[in-house]
Amino acid sequence: MPTLLFGGTIGSGPALGNDQSGLFKQRLVAYDKEVDAPNPYRNLPQLQRLLECDAARPLEASHGRAALTAALRSVIASCRERIARGDPLCDASLAGLVGDAGELLANRAKPGLRRVINGTGIILHTNLGRAPLAVEAIAAVADAASSYANLEYELESGKRGTRAAEIEPLLCELTGAEAALVVNNGAAAILLALSAQAAGGEVIVSRGELVEIGGGFRVPDVITQGGARLVEVGATNKVRLTDYAAAITEQTRALLKVHQSNFRVIGFTAEVPIAELAALAHQHGLPLVADLGSGLIAPSPGSSEPTLAQALAAGADIVTCSGDKLLGGPQAGLILGTRTAIEPLRKHPLLRALRLDKMSLAALEATLILHRDQPERVPVLRMMRQSEDELAARAECLQGLLGMGHVVSSEGFAGGGSLPEERIASKALALDPPEGAPAAAARLRMGHPAIVALIRADRLLIDMLAVSNDDLPELATGLRAIMTGD
Ligand SMILES: *Cc1c(COP(=O)(O)O)cnc(C)c1O
Repeated sequence: MPTLLFGGTIGSGPALGNDQSGLFKQRLVAYDKEVDAPNPYRNLPQLQRLLECDAARPLEASHGRAALTAALRSVIASCRERIARGDPLCDASLAGLVGDAGELLANRAKPGLRRVINGTGIILHTNLGRAPLAVEAIAAVADAASSYANLEYELESGKRGTRAAEIEPLLCELTGAEAALVVNNGAAAILLALSAQAAGGEVIVSRGELVEIGGGFRVPDVITQGGARLVEVGATNKVRLTDYAAAITEQTRALLKVHQSNFRVIGFTAEVPIAELAALAHQHGLPLVADLGSGLIAPSPGSSEPTLAQALAAGADIVTCSGDKLLGGPQAGLILGTRTAIEPLRKHPLLRALRLDKMSLAALEATLILHRDQPERVPVLRMMRQSEDELAARAECLQGLLGMGHVVSSEGFAGGGSLPEERIASKALALDPPEGAPAAAARLRMGHPAIVALIRADRLLIDMLAVSNDDLPELATGLRAIMTGD
């Protein structure tokens, strides 16, 4: 059969009589296919046909027509998008499209926030929700959430009480502080401290400490949001006590020291220790606010980071930190200090907006009790102290369950802006998935539970530092699927 190459030649072709219009159409299609592409949207069925087909009936019965229509529309729309991008065509059969809609409807019922197995080797991964809670803290949350609680109620007198009345003495006991307050997170703790102490005045801070905490949030923005003006002193790598002293004016309301959270300035550096800054502040009748970021109760092995107690003992009037970093508790902000320094914070109207909810309070209190009595039961502390043998044994156990992979050495981190310079020797299971590491990692992320792995030199690595023994069976199931193409 001759092929028509140019539209312009159709009219002049000898075979185009009226009686041959069928052939003309046929040829036009052939033309379409050979020169342009065939209309790729042509195979997508109409919404109405999908709604009326047999496969759609059970979905309509269980989810209703409106939800089914919306799901089918979205399936058709995503097929159109794929076609527009030139991606391989989706299964455009009636059954295929209705099946996709069924999956969408089933997923709608699952919460978007789901469990993740953390194979990244970063213990406090901010994007993965930082600290997993101790079983004692989880039980306390369940208790508080499932019933009423004496949140602001004095059981002895039957009168209205203060929120978190039990937590504050516990915090004082653990850190040696005279007074304590808890708020929603670390940023809220700084915001409240500076709003109450320095609004309308100036806060002096070292230029090298104006850190971005992550997700685009910067400490200077939190300070100015609190109504204080920032006075930066020193150079990025060096600041001296005299720099602070020279910047103190009538307008100064506080000196601020911010822990270098997620980075270290190394080499030619100098910073002023808390004790010297506190002495300078007190000479001028000013408070020293120290944002430690990570709330260490006890010294961390091999770390020079100050504990909360050390910062307070060195003379800081207010010390702030997060509840879900090395403290290993829920998202929370801790504020510790002297009675005089904390009092204005307690009365500040922002406190109401920044207060902690009953579930987080319950988790925080349970975590603090563990720090006092059985710190080894706090998961984050336990993870920080794992031996290489323990990590190797876990990797071998996973290798055994899976029947594949190689145990290799790797390096993990505390993360969450804690101990940035300290690498933690770890072990990982290394795999070479048939579809390649990036595609396999993407599929693992979409599982239930999701698995977040590392990619190193084209291999897929599951670091054992932040994996628990309880994760291993599900980890093996997820990994087997990508290794065998199931
Ligand atoms: C993490 C961190 C914060 C913020 O704490 P969040 O609990 O995330 O709000 C503030 N300052 C420093 C130094 C930090 O490390």
